[in-house]
Amino acid sequence: MVRFNENYLNIKQSYLFSEIAKRVNDFCEANPDKKVIRLGIGDVTQPLGGLVIEALHSAVDEMSKAETFRGYGPEQGYDFLREGIRDYYKRNGVEIDADEIFVSDGAKSDTGNITDMFSVDNTVLVPDPVYPVYVDTNIMNGRNIIYMDGTAENGFLPMPDNNVRADIIYLCSPNNPTGAVYTKAQLKEWVGYANKNDSIILFDSAYECFVSEPELPRSIYSIEGAKNCCVEFCSLSKTAGFTGTRCGYTIVPKAIVKKASDGSEMSLNHMWNRRQTTKFNGVPYIVQRGAAAVFTEAGMAEAKAMIDNYRRNAELISRTMDEMGVRYTGGVNSPYIWFECPFGMYSWDFFDKMLNEIQVVGTPGAGFGKNGDNYFRLTSFNNYENTKEAMERFRSLFS
Ligand SMILES: *Cc1c(COP(=O)(O)O)cnc(C)c1O
Repeated sequence: MVRFNENYLNIKQSYLFSEIAKRVNDFCEANPDKKVIRLGIGDVTQPLGGLVIEALHSAVDEMSKAETFRGYGPEQGYDFLREGIRDYYKRNGVEIDADEIFVSDGAKSDTGNITDMFSVDNTVLVPDPVYPVYVDTNIMNGRNIIYMDGTAENGFLPMPDNNVRADIIYLCSPNNPTGAVYTKAQLKEWVGYANKNDSIILFDSAYECFVSEPELPRSIYSIEGAKNCCVEFCSLSKTAGFTGTRCGYTIVPKAIVKKASDGSEMSLNHMWNRRQTTKFNGVPYIVQRGAAAVFTEAGMAEAKAMIDNYRRNAELISRTMDEMGVRYTGGVNSPYIWFECPFGMYSWDFFDKMLNEIQVVGTPGAGFGKNGDNYFRLTSFNNYENTKEAMERFRSLFS
């Protein structure tokens, strides 16, 4: 008799977004004349840039002629894209080799798939609040998870505790959901901890392009020693509006080599290469051409102009929080604003209050872990007019 992977019994039902949708739908049915503004979405809304569209179109044309048609491509990504990403990092002061970059269909799948590389008896350390993918994928494998608290006291940036031994550490900076960003000094402590304990840091930099303060790190590899202990995940989803187009990449340094129990050497780069060539057949050529356009200097300028729209919204939300005396993190260097629920409320109660009284939808912090119980996440991904109206309504909550 087939036996299913019973670790799936241990995954908490993810009811966050379905519960939000249900409450919003019920409200709209009961109040069809009310305009609901959604600031809960973690998805971009601006269309792809002109240079990306041009590159996609010309790649489609190439597929129409026998001489330029492409079939299976390299599983790791075409050289033109791997080299484009390498050069982009180099312009930002970080040297990585093209064969350390693995192109994929996005950071979500890679942050989950990387768990294939590690023994089930490894202990995993994740922050709370957290992007749920890190937790659920490790539960699916049956790994033990320990949590580190992100709180107002540590600015939602937990630091290593030398009394806690962890083999695999997930860090996300700029953070989803809190918008908090680690400084170089803080990441240096993490890299030091990982190198000392022979641990691995899985660093999610999906929001690196939102960093506007030049002294803040955008890649873990801007920290000395990181190439010995860190894997970095990034994606064009938030950088260039690729949430529906799908392209990301993972950097696995060749310097990460560990001794196996039989004494042989295992290279994480070789293992990931083997995993990808076995279980993945690459990102569509057309999409990779679109992605390569993003990594040119002109493409990055175009992406930056797109992100500036979201930045403006984030600034507007932050300013409103400042005026109302609400404590928050994020808003700069991030599309997210994570704030303490006013009136001492729990996040689901505050969700209902916002929906019923001002028709603004956000995301209750409780959905990201116990430390989110009294917090709320707003995003800057709606348009300026709606964000402005939502903030005017938000002010009215306090009068
Ligand atoms: C949006 C997001 C990603 C990107 O996921 P894709 O699969 O590339 O769209 C990765 N990590 C976090 C924390 C995110 O919020």
